[in-house]
Amino acid sequence: MNWKKRTAKCGELTQEQVGNKYILNGWISNVRDMGGLIFIDLRDRYGIMQLVIEPENNAELAEKAKELKSEYVIWCEGTLRNRTSPNPKLPTGYIELLLDNYGIINKSELPPFEIIDDLDTNEEIKLRYRYLDLRRPALQRNFIIRNKVSQIMHRYFEKQGFLEIETPILMKSTPEGARDFLVPSRINKGKFYALPQSPQIFKQILMVSGFDKYIQIVKCFRDEDLRSDRQPEFTQIDLEMSFIEQEDVFKLIEGFMAELWREILGIEIEVPFKKMSYEEAMSRFGSDKPDLRFDMEIVDISDEVKNSGFKVFSDVLGTKNGKIALINAKGAGSYSRKQLDSLTDFAKKYGAKGLAYIKFVNGEINSPIAKFLTEEEIKAIANKANAEDGDLLLISSDEKYRAFTILGALRLELARQLGIMEKLRNTYSFHWLVDFPLFEYDEEEKRYVAMHHPFTAPNDNEIEKLDTAPSQVHAKAYDLVVNGAELGGGSIRIHENEIQQKMFELLGLSNEEAEEKFGFLLKALQYGAPPHGGLALGLDRIVMILAGTDNIRDVIAFPKTTSGISIMDGSPSEVEDKNLAELGISLMKK
Ligand code: ASP
Repeated sequence: MNWKKRTAKCGELTQEQVGNKYILNGWISNVRDMGGLIFIDLRDRYGIMQLVIEPENNAELAEKAKELKSEYVIWCEGTLRNRTSPNPKLPTGYIELLLDNYGIINKSELPPFEIIDDLDTNEEIKLRYRYLDLRRPALQRNFIIRNKVSQIMHRYFEKQGFLEIETPILMKSTPEGARDFLVPSRINKGKFYALPQSPQIFKQILMVSGFDKYIQIVKCFRDEDLRSDRQPEFTQIDLEMSFIEQEDVFKLIEGFMAELWREILGIEIEVPFKKMSYEEAMSRFGSDKPDLRFDMEIVDISDEVKNSGFKVFSDVLGTKNGKIALINAKGAGSYSRKQLDSLTDFAKKYGAKGLAYIKFVNGEINSPIAKFLTEEEIKAIANKANAEDGDLLLISSDEKYRAFTILGALRLELARQLGIMEKLRNTYSFHWLVDFPLFEYDEEEKRYVAMHHPFTAPNDNEIEKLDTAPSQVHAKAYDLVVNGAELGGGSIRIHENEIQQKMFELLGLSNEEAEEKFGFLLKALQYGAPPHGGLALGLDRIVMILAGTDNIRDVIAFPKTTSGISIMDGSPSEVEDKNLAELGISLMKK
């Protein structure tokens, strides 16, 4: 071996060890030749250590050190001492290693960007050189948090009697509602496996087998259009339990969350979490994952303007489920025309046709719709919205859920623009979203689809309505929401075959289709299925919240871009014709 193995790690040394000799291994973060002294920052996973060479005491070493460049890997030995001018911002900022000697273990090409945090480098370059970006302390910290989450999970659930059981990656298509990634079978030409969208069916079957408490950290794959918080492959903490009810799942997960927040952030969160129904969340916050850390609630002013001569309002109120509603953006009364236009464009992305507003500035009312409303109407609106001087009311008139969704999105955007979000950093508001409708009506397909998935049980006291008014039936489904992000969701499952069959019928699946898709589950349910339920938590999301990042790529070691491409390894890529031939596949001409 032509290098010396470390006797300590860069970030682990403290003032207590001053006076001792150490060998360190690591990457050079930077070299600063100050004439009198040469400083080198050495980086490893544990932190940064300042190395010093004193030319007056070691001229030879100082001369040799001119060869050192960023990202070279070196070993070095020396004596730990106190710094004469400490840097209190660094955990190792009070100490430095006075070098006797060093050696280069490996040189590095000039990196395409500097390995420091908060660097505004183009993301494509960072993804191409992911191994260099991953050297950044901020990113490494995220993976340290991610590891902690997994370790706490293993420990917590083991204590609660859970078994970790693996389910297949090559499997039959699952029912989470997204598109499957398909894998052709060479041995069974013309047939395909699907990558799991989740282990849903397998975990239910494990309950039929009597395993009682199952958990798994598992990769799931969904071929969806991607957004900044979505990846085609993502990780779930997936669990299922038998002989339980909704409340048992809540208690278990609340305990787990409390442990994560306590151990990782040192924060005691309040349990049990509050519960809110889907209907309430939609009508007050315009979202099924409302951020409850701040108000700016939706105000329904349909009554206040029900006799209005303003055609836009009366037309909407004349339609089924039409609503006029608003949010009061306190302090945004000074918004300029340009800012309001850009809010309108923002609202249009959520399906708004336009966006009406009323500004209250310097005791005056400024609004393009004021001329269509009577003074009383404006007063009534202002009253209901609690409007004061300096406020901005943003008004949406639309089908109720669309109006609420538009206002819900604006609520978040304004909280960002008005600095409310920034102030709320490091505060956490957990709650359960409950009482989801069992079905959603798919306008395009003209049929009901399961809001959660087809194995979710309807509320016991609404089962009769399955025949008469399916759209009014609620599900035993729940989502865990924190700060406006959905951390997970699950449900109590149908464990009786008859109800399961009925569900498929309502979803428009013929017996044959249901049999062909999920026959093995239906069959299993006939052999003594226990009452069961569970949920899946998004591991990536949990780490994002704990690490305080909005970008899912910050918590996945080798992520894909929003077009599903892994820039570093160049996948997906073309394959040779002979590989396709082996699979019995030929490509259509583009
Ligand atoms: N399989 C569901 C999902 O991935 C979670 C669950 O119902 O347990 O969303």
